[in-house]
Amino acid sequence: MKYVVTPQGKKLVTLIPGDGIGPEVVASARRIIEAVGVPIEWDEQRAGASVFREGIASGVPEETVASIRRSRVVLKGPLETPVGYGEKSANVTLRKLFEAFANVRPVRELPSVPTPYRGRGIDLVIVRENVEDLYAGIEYVDTPGVTSAFKVISVKGSEKIIRFAFALARAEGRQVVHGATKANILKVTEGLFKRLFETIAREFPDIRAEHIIIDNCAHQLVKQPEQFDVIVTTNMNGDIISDLASGLVGGLGFAPSANYGHDVAIFEPVHGSAPKYAGKNVINPTAMILTAILMLRYLDEFAAAETIEHALLVTLEEGKALTRDVVGDAEAATTTAFTDAIISNLGRRSTHWQPRAYSPIQIPELHPDPVAVRVKQERVVGVDVFIEADTNPTDLGRALEQLTADSPLALYHVSSRGLQVYPDVGASIDYVDHWRCRFLARASEGEVNDAAILDLLTKIGQHFTWTSVLRLREFDGEQGFSKAQGEE
Ligand code: NAP
Repeated sequence: MKYVVTPQGKKLVTLIPGDGIGPEVVASARRIIEAVGVPIEWDEQRAGASVFREGIASGVPEETVASIRRSRVVLKGPLETPVGYGEKSANVTLRKLFEAFANVRPVRELPSVPTPYRGRGIDLVIVRENVEDLYAGIEYVDTPGVTSAFKVISVKGSEKIIRFAFALARAEGRQVVHGATKANILKVTEGLFKRLFETIAREFPDIRAEHIIIDNCAHQLVKQPEQFDVIVTTNMNGDIISDLASGLVGGLGFAPSANYGHDVAIFEPVHGSAPKYAGKNVINPTAMILTAILMLRYLDEFAAAETIEHALLVTLEEGKALTRDVVGDAEAATTTAFTDAIISNLGRRSTHWQPRAYSPIQIPELHPDPVAVRVKQERVVGVDVFIEADTNPTDLGRALEQLTADSPLALYHVSSRGLQVYPDVGASIDYVDHWRCRFLARASEGEVNDAAILDLLTKIGQHFTWTSVLRLREFDGEQGFSKAQGEE
């Protein structure tokens, strides 16, 4: 069971009011849920600013972690990331701690919300991988003037999110899933995601699957957003396009989100703690209410979710009590008055909205094999040595060739920021003091062993500062590394 039912028949939810405007939006959503009579037992817990100030570096106390392990479902307000406390985000801590790998952001046009896209019928969901990619946070200062980061994309992580996206499409009766990647440039990492998307799509013949390059996806989202239904993508792409998409339907006050994992689901609005409005009873709780609706569906409370959604839509359509971000200060209703209006509209149905036939979502199972991908044959064919050197490509290339003349590894090329610069390919370049020097096994040697690599590094180290080294491998005969630009 993805959630816990208490002996009293109530569904257990960890409630984290959060910081700034968090307690106000959470109180609004809770009042509405309670007014509908959903049997929920709230376990109220803390996270965020006050916890950081107590010296807990993660921003999440043990009691909160224990509560989430028990309940497996979290409804939370925004958490502030205070500066000067190590600057870790309690949100990220929670998502990572519970491997909440699927970030889901529905984006839908709402009545009375002024946007340039009004009347276009935008109704899409962005499914963003939430754990991997550049957000693995593996970064280095390679030389005083050059930094780099690892973009980590795994078969396992990609399969989970892609399968999740198709499962979500089925659960919501959606017909099209776009896989958005930058596979045209990042052929290994984003390319893996694209290939898996195309393979997994075949298992869902009832759903149309299309690959789209992420930059065109951003362009199409602005130009013709109504063409999209579900978009699944990697972490960084998803981060950017999901904010873009929120902007299409009115911005942060209207953007709900959910983070799903195998063990835990965390529901939170996209917006932050907006500290300048804290305690003023003026902010818009719609994003939090839409977030609560997502949670109710996860708890299989489909009827309650639909009742609240209708009441919210009726309240927005009537426009009698709207918050200041929608109607401006002069005519604004307070957060409480807006919430009261929704509660008074419970039971009424919007004439403009046709609810989807939602069904429970099947979260993909964890792969039982911790490795998940094995190959029959792997072979080390060379090595990339990254060197810090204040020199030019020709001098560096020639020096390396001389140094390694009797090595089983021969210099293949030198590249700077991904572009081959030695042997010269005639490109005009502006290089930096960080060089990728690719050595491949001399044909006669075949495979490269560690002794040869260590010997190479010793020779290079006598004249240059090498900063890192990566083995170049083939897996079942396929190269496991990208070419440099300009390389034949
Ligand atoms: P923010 O809190 O989202 O607020 C930015 C602006 O968005 C507000 O000043 C306001 O715009 C508008 N806004 C946000 N929520 C609204 C609502 N419910 N109703 C009406 N307007 C709303 O972003 P921030 O100021 O960059 O971040 C503040 C803190 O929140 C930071 O500590 C940040 O780390 C944290 N944060 C947390 C989360 C999370 O917990 N998931 C997410 C993002 C940020 P106007 O000024 O135009 O009225």
